[in-house]
Amino acid sequence: MRTPLVAANWKMNGSREFAEQFFTALDVKGAGCTVVICPPYPYLPLVAEKAGDDIAVGAQNLSQEASGAFTGEVSAAMLLDWKVDYAIVGHSERRSLYGEGSELVARKFVAAQAAGLIPILCVGETLQEREDGRALDVIAAQLQAVKDAAEGDIWDRAVIAYEPVWAIGTGKTATPEQAQEVHRFIRENLGESGAAVQILYGGSVKAANAEALFAQADIDGALVGGASLDAEEFARICRAA
Ligand code: PGA
Repeated sequence: MRTPLVAANWKMNGSREFAEQFFTALDVKGAGCTVVICPPYPYLPLVAEKAGDDIAVGAQNLSQEASGAFTGEVSAAMLLDWKVDYAIVGHSERRSLYGEGSELVARKFVAAQAAGLIPILCVGETLQEREDGRALDVIAAQLQAVKDAAEGDIWDRAVIAYEPVWAIGTGKTATPEQAQEVHRFIRENLGESGAAVQILYGGSVKAANAEALFAQADIDGALVGGASLDAEEFARICRAA
């Protein structure tokens, strides 16, 4: 059995005050899933302190390098220093706005795992790619880049998030059936390791649609953007898992 996991991706939102208020309002006791909060870098120490033992902390990105002259970058070891457990890699905003290709994403995945962080690897197709009938090929290529870069049983310490780019921040969610089709494809693509990997859905997840998504056999939770900025809404999503 896979433990459900719900992760909050705050993106570039929030403040110290927001983080304080969020944790005052957040009640996920008894939710029965792993809860991960991914704030912007400067708020990681505060979130780690507020999160306590029951809630895990994740970064939204990390450097593929270990240390050195890389201005503006943050290494996996630095994240571990602040009690961070997870790191999102390959979010579609990093891929499209910051030119992160699948090879770079794969190096970040390897750097995260090598240091002891659990990467949350985001994959997903654009609307054009879906309309062209290439969604599954695109996702297979994104997974292949990681398989090519990493060695050993990499999927036992990783989470995958399927995030169709056309559903992120648009209010358009993939239907549970559309998402399930891709989740099953990903699981099969991973071979024997696939059965144990948590595969999250992301893209306009809200309390109102979470239950139907989580009812699908291969959807193990969610990576939540917009709705994760409301502690009560986010807690409802966690309870639906
Ligand atoms: P959204 O973002 O929930 O606002 O669509 C999801 C994500 O980008 O991880």
